[in-house]
Amino acid sequence: MFESSLSALAARLAAKDVSSRELAQAWLDRIAALNPTINAFITVDPGRTLAEAAAADAMRGAGRAGALTGVPIAHKDIFCTDGWLTTCGSKMLSNFVAPYDAHVIQRFKAAGLPSLGKTNMDEFAMGSSNETSFYGAVKNPWDPTRVPGGSSGGAAASVAARLSPAATGTDTGGSIRQPAAFTGITGLKPTYGLVSRYGMIAFASSLDQAGPMAKSAEDCALLLNVMTGFDPNDSTSLDREKEDYARDLDRPLAGLRIGLPKEFFAEGLDGEVAAAVDTAVNELKKLGAIPVEISLANSRLAIPVYYVLGPAEASSNLSRFDGVRYGHRAPEYTDLNDMYAKTRAQGFGAEVKRRILIGTYVLSHGYYDAYYLQAQKIRRLIADDFSEAFKVCDVILGPTTPGTAFRIGENSDDPVRMYLNDLYTIPANLAGLPGMSLPCGFDSGGLPIGLQLVGNHFCEARMLNVAHQYQRATDWHSRMPTNL
Ligand code: GLN
Repeated sequence: MFESSLSALAARLAAKDVSSRELAQAWLDRIAALNPTINAFITVDPGRTLAEAAAADAMRGAGRAGALTGVPIAHKDIFCTDGWLTTCGSKMLSNFVAPYDAHVIQRFKAAGLPSLGKTNMDEFAMGSSNETSFYGAVKNPWDPTRVPGGSSGGAAASVAARLSPAATGTDTGGSIRQPAAFTGITGLKPTYGLVSRYGMIAFASSLDQAGPMAKSAEDCALLLNVMTGFDPNDSTSLDREKEDYARDLDRPLAGLRIGLPKEFFAEGLDGEVAAAVDTAVNELKKLGAIPVEISLANSRLAIPVYYVLGPAEASSNLSRFDGVRYGHRAPEYTDLNDMYAKTRAQGFGAEVKRRILIGTYVLSHGYYDAYYLQAQKIRRLIADDFSEAFKVCDVILGPTTPGTAFRIGENSDDPVRMYLNDLYTIPANLAGLPGMSLPCGFDSGGLPIGLQLVGNHFCEARMLNVAHQYQRATDWHSRMPTNL
């Protein structure tokens, strides 16, 4: 059962073969047994989960079931969830019980998907390893001495260890795709604006986007059908006709042009990752796809651009955590300014402080033109490269990450090395494009390798089609860690 696809679970629920309460209980038992070693969840609340599952059973009983009603999933602890602790991986919010649901949570609730709990993450989604979490590192289910990636590392580990059938994640510079690659699962970051950011704790608002993390492209398509939709509470939410993201899954790939950016196969890429991606290209060729070499020349500047713009936005977004309205407040202080200072000094971890300092620096008088404005200009050039590329290809393909999961602690003292993990994922965020990662093999140490697809704006269905056809021809996505 833990191996089942979302549609297989939904079919069993529809056939009255199992109830949502029984499904939820089975996964809660598995979480209770395995989470102490993996640390994928920050909060589990069986009472709430089972109440939500009972409501889903009632929905089904009343003939109001949707495609996934009754299938339990996990939520990244960045989404405000009414009545649940919502920490964003930070001491700052370690006492924050959200008084309302994020739009994404509202949609899953309305569709009748019970929540299995809130998953661990890098503090305020800043990180690539889950090591910046106030709640401790998450272990990679394939090798507990390794990181699961980040920032949605808890979500990724929960799906990989089969502690949840699927999970929500968020991706500002790679936080869905990079952990998906490190844990051998499938994750998708939608076109910017497709999924509402309302109630999703903000990191860098012009880049943040929520998406599904699951065992397969097919499961991701079904989750995306629930998550997307216009929301007047998010000023960047797009008012578009509702799509069925599963509609193209079975389309043949004959004639599909796959763009291979030469910059993504250059120096810095691990040899085993390169070989696995090459093999995947050959597999797609067998299915009728035609490789085309493309260039994304300005992408080499994506990391410096991101580490100006991301922190700039973060420094503004995180100014709300001042100890006055909610969250942590320093227990002792002399006056208001001292309260702010002590609260923020105690509540934020080192990486978050580093980003706030960089952000306020690049936005300050005298540096704004030199850094922030320059970065905005290069962001446009990076997006223009993609527009050119999509004139000659339908989908862009490459590695998700330069290497496989690294050891816990290995990059902790070297932020720049840590940042380089997102070399191939950040460009899609800067251009607002949809991207996904799917498993395409293992390295000689038995660690999963991720293949990245990037589509043009609103081409999620096509990207999912490519991924699904690849997953029909291969079985990398159905492997699971054997040591659990
Ligand atoms: N690893 C990147 C960072 O640290 C991306 C994080 C994310 O996408 N939330 O900022």
